[in-house]
Amino acid sequence: MDLEQLTGLTIYPRSAVEENGTAYFLARSDESNDKLLGIQGDAVGFEGERQDGVILCPLTPVNAAALRARLPWLRPVPLGLQTSAGFGDRLGLATPGHVRAARHFSGIAPIFAQQSVRENARTGRTPQQVLDDATWGLFQEGWRDPWGADADHLKTPDDVDTFVAAGYTFYTIDPGDHVDNDAHTASLEALEEKVHALPWDELEDSPEGLHERYLDRHFKVEDLSLGFDRTALARAAAKYGRAVAHTVRLYHHLVNQMGEDGFELEVSVDETEIPTSPEEHFYVASELERLGVRWVSLAPRYVGRFEKGVDYIGDLDAFKRELAKHAAIARAFGPYKLSIHSGSDKFSIYPIVAELTKGGSVVSEAALAGPLVHVKTAGTSYLEALRAVAQVAPASFREMLTFALERYETDRATYHVSAQQANVPAPDALSDADLPGLLEQFDARQVLHVTFGSVLDRFGERLLATLQEHEEVYYTLLEVHFQRHLSPFTE
Ligand code: ZN
Repeated sequence: MDLEQLTGLTIYPRSAVEENGTAYFLARSDESNDKLLGIQGDAVGFEGERQDGVILCPLTPVNAAALRARLPWLRPVPLGLQTSAGFGDRLGLATPGHVRAARHFSGIAPIFAQQSVRENARTGRTPQQVLDDATWGLFQEGWRDPWGADADHLKTPDDVDTFVAAGYTFYTIDPGDHVDNDAHTASLEALEEKVHALPWDELEDSPEGLHERYLDRHFKVEDLSLGFDRTALARAAAKYGRAVAHTVRLYHHLVNQMGEDGFELEVSVDETEIPTSPEEHFYVASELERLGVRWVSLAPRYVGRFEKGVDYIGDLDAFKRELAKHAAIARAFGPYKLSIHSGSDKFSIYPIVAELTKGGSVVSEAALAGPLVHVKTAGTSYLEALRAVAQVAPASFREMLTFALERYETDRATYHVSAQQANVPAPDALSDADLPGLLEQFDARQVLHVTFGSVLDRFGERLLATLQEHEEVYYTLLEVHFQRHLSPFTE
C-alpha cells in the first residue's frame, strides 16, 4: 500500500490490514482530529469519497457494519467459560487503551462493548453506537482475537431487542425487580403465602413439587452441605421464585431470536439489597437448570459493599468464606463463571476471587485452566478519562469537579456510594499539579463517578475534544490502570 501521498492524514499503523485483496486502514486528520476509514480496492457497500487513490470513509454506522462484514474478527462472539473481563466505556473513546491492556493477558477474554440500559440512558448513546465505537477502537489497534459484547442489566424484552438488533453476544439478565427483598425477614407464615402466590405455571411446578425436590434434603456440593428446612426453602423460593420465572421468560425471548448457540447468558442479582446466601444461589441455579436455561455466568449479591469506583468495603474473611461456597456451587452446576459486578478497583478481593474460582477438575480443557470468573468494570474508564483531563487541561477539570460537587447529592440517589462531599478538597485550594491526585481520593472518585451523566450533559463536547486531542495520554493511563485489574487473574 503506497499511502505516502495522503496529505494531512496520519495512519494508525496497527490498523492497516489487507483482506481478500482489499486494503483497509484507520487514519486521523492532522487538522481536526477526525478519524477516517481508508480503503484501497473494493469499497462497495461503504460510503466515502475518493482522494489520492483511496476511498476515505467517515466513521458512520453504515461503514462500521460494512467493515464488520468484511473483517470477521471485528464481530463479537460468545466467549464461553474462559476467564473474562468487561470493559465498559461510557465515552466511546477507551477501547484502544483497553486493547493495549488486554494484549498483556492472553488468558483473559475481553468484552470490549459493555453498556447497561441505564448507562445508555444517561450518556444518550444507543447499543449500536456502543458497539460501533468498540469496533473502531479494535480496528485502530489491530485486535484480532475473540471478543464479546455485553448487553448489561436487561430487565424487559424490549431492552433485549435493541441489543439483539445491534449484534450483541453476551446478555446479562437482571431479574432484580422480581427479587422479593421482604422475604429476608418475613415470618414463615408470610413466606408460605408468598410461595403460594408464585407463578407456578411459568415455573412448571407446584408447591408440592418444590417440597419434594428440596424440603429436608441435604445436598453435598464439594465440601459443602446445603440443606433446606421449611423456613429456608420458603425464604429462597419466596425471595427468588419470581426472579427465576422472569429469567426464564427473557431467556426464551433470546433463544427465539438468536437460537440457543447464538448468544451467551449471564444472570445477575447483584443489585439487590440483601446478600445472596449459598442456599439461595443453589436454589436459583438448580431451578434455572430444571427449566432448561443455559448460562455462562452468574452474579450473586456478595457480602460486603461493592461501591462505585473504590475498593471493596467489608470483612475480607467473611467475603472469602461466602465466595468459596458460591464458587463451589458454580462448579457443581455449570460449571459457570461467577461474575463480579461493580468490579473495578476492587483490588483487595481480586487475589481471593482468582484463587477460589479455579475450575479444578471440573474444567478439563487446558484452555480453561484460569479462574471461572467474569469481572465487570465500567465507570473506572471514565475516571481515567478525567485523570487525563486533570493532566492536560487542569482548568477544565476544575470546572467539572466543581459542577460534580454541586450535582452529587442529587445524582448519588441510584448508586451505592458513601462519599461525603465535605471530604473532597476544594478544587480552588489545589494546585494544577495536585489535581490528578484527586483520582486517588476515595470521596472525589465517587463524586466524579456517579455524576457522569450530569457532567457529560454540561461538558461532554469539551471532554471528548480534549481526550481526542490527547488520546495517547488517555490510552496510556488506561493500559496501566487495567494491567493492575487483570494481572491478579493470571498465574
Ligand atoms: Zn451489575
